[in-house]
Amino acid sequence: MSTENQPCQGLLSMFPLAGKDKSIARLLFGTGTCPRCIFRFCCVDFHAPYKLPYKDLLRDLENFLKTEDDDLTLEATEPPLKKIRLQDGKSQIDDGSQNGGEMPAILKDENMLLEKPYLNACNICLGILQEFCEKTFIKKVCQKVESAGYEFTNLVFSVSFPPQLSVREHAAWLLVKQEMGKQGLSLGRDDIVQLKEAYKWITHPLFSEELGVPVDGKSVFTRMAVGKALDKIKEDDFRKKFPCPPNSPKAFCSAVEIECAHGAVFVAGRYNKYSRNLPQTPWIIDGERKLESSVEELISNQLLTVFKAEGFNFSSSGREDVDVRTLGNGRPFAIELLNPHRIQFTSQDMKELQQKINISSDKIQVRDLQLVTREAIGHMKEGEEEKTKTYNALVWTDKAIQKKDIEFLDNLKDLQINQKTPLRVLHRRPLAIRVRIIHTMETHYIDEHHFRLHLKTQAGTYIKEFVHGDFGRTKPNIGSLMNGTVDILELDVESVDVDWPPVLDD
Ligand SMILES: [Zn+2]
Repeated sequence: MSTENQPCQGLLSMFPLAGKDKSIARLLFGTGTCPRCIFRFCCVDFHAPYKLPYKDLLRDLENFLKTEDDDLTLEATEPPLKKIRLQDGKSQIDDGSQNGGEMPAILKDENMLLEKPYLNACNICLGILQEFCEKTFIKKVCQKVESAGYEFTNLVFSVSFPPQLSVREHAAWLLVKQEMGKQGLSLGRDDIVQLKEAYKWITHPLFSEELGVPVDGKSVFTRMAVGKALDKIKEDDFRKKFPCPPNSPKAFCSAVEIECAHGAVFVAGRYNKYSRNLPQTPWIIDGERKLESSVEELISNQLLTVFKAEGFNFSSSGREDVDVRTLGNGRPFAIELLNPHRIQFTSQDMKELQQKINISSDKIQVRDLQLVTREAIGHMKEGEEEKTKTYNALVWTDKAIQKKDIEFLDNLKDLQINQKTPLRVLHRRPLAIRVRIIHTMETHYIDEHHFRLHLKTQAGTYIKEFVHGDFGRTKPNIGSLMNGTVDILELDVESVDVDWPPVLDD
């Protein structure tokens, strides 16, 4: 269809309609349709004509519609078409007004159109391809973007159109389809250039020019129901309920809201936790806060301020209990910063930011702080189960011990244990038995009732339960191995062997 749409060379430069389009153009124009929507329904699928100034389009369209029918019959002979019966403009306009469409004022008085080209809102696009393509509107959006104070390198322009546009589009399509049917031609829904496409062609270059960054777009149709209903309704039923052509709207649609947001950015690093009184995430029970701070808050509060972000999501490679310290090189973490206004940071900036976090609290320290991609965060989680972790536990024994009583633990390699979900986490984890491996152990005798135990284990092992046995739910355990009662007094994580994020030199 569109490939046959050769512009009338020499007659009107750049004007994309040909003689065979004339009856459709006249029909739509007479019912109050804008030139760009007329192009769409005549399946003009190259961009340039849509971008011409509206005034010029209107003038060219009027000239096109005024040309003699004879000229057009000649134009229409190639490619050969069935002879098109062209109605004269006057009677066509009268038809339009009988159908409820008002005669566009521009046809009444040609001088008016040059001053006020938008006297009428288009009955199909409600002004989307009129006012909302003008530089004044583009500038308004750009001012909003600029006043929001974002650092950005590209722009995604998302538009949500009024749902009634789909209904109007459907009505106009039925009308044009019927008209083309008279000429023995067909018109599928997809043959028409979509409103959102035409809108992109016109506005994206303007945004790009104004903001100096590449522009991409997507339209947000949240009212899928309208589209589905239109697919289902029978054409005759639709015509009974809705005028074809769609009637002239009383007003243009308006831009209800212009909102700006920046896509999330991601920061990763490793943290140490030096406090036995600090949870990893806010500890809230029945709406009541139990401890005043948390690891994620101590880190994220600084990031929120510097990135001028609205919120964050914290994730990490495993987690430690509130009373467990994390020492050594620390635990990998990543933070998603939502709607950041600042995004451009050098590695020096990141070092200073890390410094700022580290000065702000003696309960935590951060290292390897860096900007990462969303995709890279997957490395932190992948193969988590296979990774090893090393711990240091302070163990108490009921019976008095000698150094030789614990040395046998040093010789146990890759000890397999079965862990039932610990009682203390049973309220939030399903009951299961998991097999875990204690790779190595190393004991350091302290006195008759205390020793230190270094452990290298498979990630996901419950260390406290492995030591005290959790009422026999973990088998074997240090107590059962020693034939006595033991408990764990302190626990530190010494290393989390995940080689992400990359280590940075200080
Ligand atoms: Zn329109």
